[in-house]
Amino acid sequence: MADTNLRLVWIYPDLLSTYGDQGNALVVERRAQQRGLAVQRLDVRSDQQLPTSGDIYLIGGGEDRPQRLAAERLLRDGGLTRAVDNGAIVFSVCAGYQILGHEFVNDLGTPQPGLGLLDVKSTRGEADRCVGDVLGDMDSRLGLPQLTGFENHQGVTHLGPTARPLAHVRLGNGNGTGDGTEGAWNDTVFGTYMHGPVLARNPLIADLLIKLALDVNALPPVDDRWYEALRGERIAAATQPA
Ligand code: GLN
Repeated sequence: MADTNLRLVWIYPDLLSTYGDQGNALVVERRAQQRGLAVQRLDVRSDQQLPTSGDIYLIGGGEDRPQRLAAERLLRDGGLTRAVDNGAIVFSVCAGYQILGHEFVNDLGTPQPGLGLLDVKSTRGEADRCVGDVLGDMDSRLGLPQLTGFENHQGVTHLGPTARPLAHVRLGNGNGTGDGTEGAWNDTVFGTYMHGPVLARNPLIADLLIKLALDVNALPPVDDRWYEALRGERIAAATQPA
């Protein structure tokens, strides 16, 4: 598409798309279109080759077996690493987040290599699964409001020195390491345990991805009333006494 301003790639919807994570693609697409951008969205199944010329790549969560298959295919494909080398922005959720790290423990109980695009490593938590609503303060360098999301994972993710925590939790587990960190990011690659879909609950993260992809400092404002209502509802539900 000659007049495309933003190429958005949704990775492996056939393997990785739990808890409505595909909504993240809808939110980025819509918010870019509301700014008058022409968006080309490509949903790439796991039997297809990943394009390397995308601007934003999104990857969702998944059950343990599809996660193993997705990681194998992504490593074999090599396209995501080339895209990141070309300056693409990547936003990953849960299983997708673990896959972007150096290693995770798969459904067979075996450590499996990830893509190493984020300096993190995931193990399987010994305690109960981390399940429930999460609230957190975003890394102050991102200048974003409170994070709201839903988590459901067994994996525990440890950050290496070049990964910054995406947020610090006030409620919930996040990375599950007990240090209050949630998710990770470097300059162009982001990972989170948050479903929701997380970009519907936190649309300014979607805007951040668009700004980074376009290399602009600001986007024209859009009507956020619907998002604010959803955020308010979810934050109130999470903070209500049981
Ligand atoms: N299978 C992974 C875990 O349990 C990721 C789960 C998910 O993506 N929701 O840690």
